[in-house]
Amino acid sequence: MQNPEHIIQLGKVLAAEQRRGCDDQATDDGLDRFLGLWQAGADGDLALDAVQVALTLLEDYGGQTIRERKERVAQAVEGLRGLFRGQESGVRSRESGVRSQESGDRPAAPVKKPRAKPKKPAEAQPPAPSPQPLAPSPQPADVQPIAPAKALSPGDLLDSVPGIGRKDVNAFKRMGLRTVEDLLYHFPHRYDDYSSQKHIGDLVVGSVETIVGEVTNTRLAGGPRPRVEVEVSDETGTIKAVFFGQPWLTRQLPAGKMIVLSGKVGAYGGVRQMTSPTWEPYVPDSDALIHTGRLVPVHPLTKGLLDRNARKVIKQVVDAVAPHLPEYLPEATLAHAGLLGLSQAISQIHFPESAETLMRARERLGFDEFLFIQIGVVQRKLLWQGELGYQLRLHEDVHTDLQSQLPFALTGAQQRSLSEIFADVARPVPMARLLQGDVGSGKTVVAAASLLQAIANGYQGALMAPTEILAEQHYKGLKKLLGRVRVPRQAKQEAEGESWRDRMSPEESAQLAEIKALLGMTVEDDMDGQGVRVALLTGSLGVKDRRRVLEGIAKGEVDLVVGTHALITESVQYHSLGLAVVDEQHRFGVEQRQRLRDKGFNPHLLVMTATPIPRTLTMTIYGDLDTSVLDELPPGRQVIRTRWVNRSDHDKVYRHMRKEIEKGRQAFVICPLVEESEKIDLPSAEEMYEKLQSEIFPDLRVALLHGKMLPREKDQIMVAFRDHAYDILVATAVIEVGIDIPNASTILIEGAERFGLSQLHQFRGRVGRGQHQSYCVLIPHKENDTSVERLEALAQTSDGFKLAEIDLRLRGPGEFFGTRQSGTPDLKVAQLADTRLLVAARTAAEAILADDPQLAKPEHALLKQKVDAFWVEARKVG
Ligand code: ADP
Ligand code: MG
Repeated sequence: MQNPEHIIQLGKVLAAEQRRGCDDQATDDGLDRFLGLWQAGADGDLALDAVQVALTLLEDYGGQTIRERKERVAQAVEGLRGLFRGQESGVRSRESGVRSQESGDRPAAPVKKPRAKPKKPAEAQPPAPSPQPLAPSPQPADVQPIAPAKALSPGDLLDSVPGIGRKDVNAFKRMGLRTVEDLLYHFPHRYDDYSSQKHIGDLVVGSVETIVGEVTNTRLAGGPRPRVEVEVSDETGTIKAVFFGQPWLTRQLPAGKMIVLSGKVGAYGGVRQMTSPTWEPYVPDSDALIHTGRLVPVHPLTKGLLDRNARKVIKQVVDAVAPHLPEYLPEATLAHAGLLGLSQAISQIHFPESAETLMRARERLGFDEFLFIQIGVVQRKLLWQGELGYQLRLHEDVHTDLQSQLPFALTGAQQRSLSEIFADVARPVPMARLLQGDVGSGKTVVAAASLLQAIANGYQGALMAPTEILAEQHYKGLKKLLGRVRVPRQAKQEAEGESWRDRMSPEESAQLAEIKALLGMTVEDDMDGQGVRVALLTGSLGVKDRRRVLEGIAKGEVDLVVGTHALITESVQYHSLGLAVVDEQHRFGVEQRQRLRDKGFNPHLLVMTATPIPRTLTMTIYGDLDTSVLDELPPGRQVIRTRWVNRSDHDKVYRHMRKEIEKGRQAFVICPLVEESEKIDLPSAEEMYEKLQSEIFPDLRVALLHGKMLPREKDQIMVAFRDHAYDILVATAVIEVGIDIPNASTILIEGAERFGLSQLHQFRGRVGRGQHQSYCVLIPHKENDTSVERLEALAQTSDGFKLAEIDLRLRGPGEFFGTRQSGTPDLKVAQLADTRLLVAARTAAEAILADDPQLAKPEHALLKQKVDAFWVEARKVG
């Protein structure tokens, strides 16, 4: 026994309970609360059998029947008395972990087994402790080393924590919190500042204050709403506290008791008053205050869980467990980033001593979240780059040739991105680069120039698009761009001693001619064998042609293949894939890259995205990629006239559309929903289609496109619209990905407040792709300040990056972390806009992994566990 006084205190309270007939009134807040606090101060004595037995018996005391209580309190008291009678039963010292045997007069066997706190969930336990809780052990104590009973640890189930009522355990469970650790990471969502303690005489009516005083009078007042009125005084004055619907407070707040009150000061008939303030017994040690007199945490709650109870339980758990939490961050990381230790951070985020420590706690825990993400992405990057890649030599002549064929000069941003790419591929490490560029910034040329270098080096290139129609678009574009560029095909073979042409058998030559014909290459295109051979691989190829193209790819007769993801998922075998370009948004993940690698290749990888993303998000979502940015549009781009109008202005908008269509143009109409919904009052594409076709534009050709259609159907509609078989296309957000319809000049977006700014910007990019002046009209269906501010921003700026920053600021990261960005973890503490902390975490992750890429060193074992758990969770969410 380490602290007999503490155990005596428990004994006294239990005895008092017994005397009162177990009405749970022996202590201020009930026995459960008392036991929680008592336990927190019990230290090593928690390991004593008698204490364990008592705590187990008295678990959820508030929920027990009077009979149960009487029985169990009696047993608990008896056990505790045993500790002082020198009777050895149940006494165990934590230090030795060995039963003391000095008296030697006890029977050798059977002996009592130490009662550790139950490890299994309570459901798995017998419903009530048996009246004989000390079960006999099958083995004599002296041959069995006995582990000390354990105190609370993070993995314990809440059911097994003494002092939490069953009701509260269930409420926590409903919020997905099952273990002590879950509770430790159940952070407050706000804090009420009750920290500035005042004298009653100094209280200012209308402000929120905290006072300490003595109860000088308590009465139960009747009336329509029975209430308890408590007079509290200090040496400077008196204030009245009024509580409704809690008659028991008359007993809990007897005259003479010192309490702390926090609440808003009002005045009632000239008397100062707090209505329904929070209160708790005054304890001289201010650290012990939970509900008042401090920055009071407000934790997320659920039905049936009172803030007071939640706070009480969390305080108990935090006090008992946080100090013993093992630190998983390396010493050097903590020191370098100047962070709080884990124990302190967890304690302080729940029950901060000051605003300053709260900030530091948030900083530490936010850093951890960023660090877990960064370790994950940096590891992925190292993994991708861990193997040898193809080292490409820059063929300046080929690059110059390409530029001379272009009808325009490359922009500065295009040149910069290309130098970054060329530098990457010149290293014997596979490139993993993201090319970010707003709609129309000219990503395709950058891709073409890069692919050309791979081909000039004797490798193949692949370009993947999200849909067949986009693949076709790219195919046409690339063919045009690369059509007249010569690649030094023979250079490689000649270096090996003979002309490649000489080495070909007549049969091979015939096959090559066949595939060229299949690819539609004329003699002109062929340029004596130096033309780039581009193939389109889509579902629309006939069986025979398809087989032939696949064969061409496998033999290396095809230089560049364009298609959908089928390029890596199907049985496409490459001869020598050197560079894979992925054009799309957020869908080319780790899995796909692994698949490429499983095909035996470590190609360079270039991912292109048209969704501008703020830097912090890039570091997170695409943290495993290096980034190039096209932040400059080619000169002479038209500005798309963007306006937002009210619903009442529909007629005007329709008149404008008709005028444009009469000029030969086409229009898009975007709706947030596919079909009508009873729950949400928003325009649906189906309704809109009906209305436009039958009421507004019966004489025009209207088509409908939405995500519930089969891919084939969608492609058919898109192709028909592109070929001007329709005047108006009503669509949902499926239209977002970059289809090119230069003849479309107007895009009308209904329910515009429902879309993110970046998404609206993408929609807008569907028009203005030809020489015609284009228009974007936004119609919000419900306006509020934020939606108006966002639509106004869109009208004012055409810079996608600026819009992305604004969106992040106005709507938070949810927009970016939607389903479109799968695999992105949920952040509890970290603020995505906190670039400084994110950069610090990135640096730390790189430093840690440079030293130990797999986190295999023993000192990183805990960190590894944390990172793994974080990503398991993240994948579930994504
Ligand atoms: P995105 O980045 O949206 O994929 P594209 O590559 O499709 O953009 O380019 C959009 C248009 O801009 C194309 O018609 C392309 O030919 C043209 N373009 C690309 N680069 C330049 C440039 N440097 N100067 C002028 N026009 C360019
Ligand atoms: Mg594009």
